[in-house]
Amino acid sequence: MLNRKSLRYRITLTVALTLTVVTLIFGTALTVYETNRRNAAVLEIDRSLKQLTSQYSEQLGNEIFASQTMAMKATMAEIMKRKSILTITAYNEYGEVLVSTDKNAKKKLSREQIGALWMTSISTKQKENNQSVLDFASPITAYGENVGFWNIHYSLASLERETREIILLFTTLILSIAILTGIVLNSILVRVVLTPVYKLRNVMQHIQGIGSETGDGGGQRLDKMVQAFDEFSEDLSPVKGTENEIILLASSFQEMMFALKHAYANMRTDVLTQLNNRMRLDEVMEYELKRVNRYSGTFSIILMDIDYFKKVNDTYGHLAGDEALKKMADILRKNFREIDTPGRWGGEEFLIILPQLDGIKACMIAERVRAAIETTVFPDIGIITCSFGITEYKAKDTIQKLTKRVDDALYAAKELGRNCCVEEK
Ligand code: GH3
Ligand code: MG
Ligand code: MG
Repeated sequence: MLNRKSLRYRITLTVALTLTVVTLIFGTALTVYETNRRNAAVLEIDRSLKQLTSQYSEQLGNEIFASQTMAMKATMAEIMKRKSILTITAYNEYGEVLVSTDKNAKKKLSREQIGALWMTSISTKQKENNQSVLDFASPITAYGENVGFWNIHYSLASLERETREIILLFTTLILSIAILTGIVLNSILVRVVLTPVYKLRNVMQHIQGIGSETGDGGGQRLDKMVQAFDEFSEDLSPVKGTENEIILLASSFQEMMFALKHAYANMRTDVLTQLNNRMRLDEVMEYELKRVNRYSGTFSIILMDIDYFKKVNDTYGHLAGDEALKKMADILRKNFREIDTPGRWGGEEFLIILPQLDGIKACMIAERVRAAIETTVFPDIGIITCSFGITEYKAKDTIQKLTKRVDDALYAAKELGRNCCVEEK
């Protein structure tokens, strides 16, 4: 479904891109916030270590000055009680280790390192056994003179833990918001854009499919099209509040369909009698032929011709003749089933298609209609009679063969003296 051209794909892409951008913005903000927070925390640790060392500087300085190793160790042990302090190393002014709680402490610092320590006590971070450590250094003085250096390794584990917690919390929050927003955004877009478009597409597919489904050209297909559009506009009612383009599109489609139906029906209707015309009769015969060829079954046709109609025209005038043709059409409309198709074949000839009826039954119906016409009084004219040719479908029939046969039957009825029915097998 999600091919690159589909609307759903584009909506999904839009939603995904929007959320990615939002997530990136939130992510960047979080990174900036966390970096600042860490820097502030490190500065705070640095400040508290400075306070701590200055507090002990005098004491340790005196002990270094007096070379009291035991006392130095005791002081360090005291300092080590502070939370998060990993190791303390005390160097003399030449950079040699005096006392250290760190087994890995360098025994002697280089001149550059001493210089760096003397110049600055700025803390640097380094990784030790997979944990972040603050490397803190500051000079030790006694009687106003530099007698050595401190080097304290301070664990940043709790800071790291806080960072992890904050990142986890914010990531969960951002992702939840992103997913929720995504779902809401997607459903809004689907509802507003996709659903009506899909419905429109389904209607179009439905219309395209109808022809191949039934093999029927004709009004049935058009009726289904119009029906589909009716249902479509009903389906659209939930989104009707907004006069959007899709609704306008749908209603103009609908108008088009009605106009088309009208034109379609007009093309297949005889102007004088309002019966089906020859075009429609041909279509229905074609359809019946296909139907019985595919599903078996049968059908019959009746060809009916008004007897001595020329004389009617000649005696009562063309207009009276026209009225008689209209009345004849009424009789046909009344006397056939819903599924039969009566139509004007041409002039004063009418053809009726009777699905599923064999020749015998078609003859019975023709006889009934013949009797009905015979007993009808036509205004001004009086009694008019008709001759009937009847034939049933045969294997390998074509429209030409069928109509030739029914025409022969009609000719035979005329030959027999008119006002009768003849079946040609
Ligand atoms: P038959 O019994 O052999 O059928 O005799 P008929 O006079 O009915 O046959 P014919 O074919 O000689 O004449 C048909 C007549 O039908 C000729 C024509 O004037 C008339 N006709 C055909 N179409 C119309 C029409 O639309 N209106 C009118 N008033 N007459 C029509
Ligand atoms: Mg005729
Ligand atoms: Mg005639």
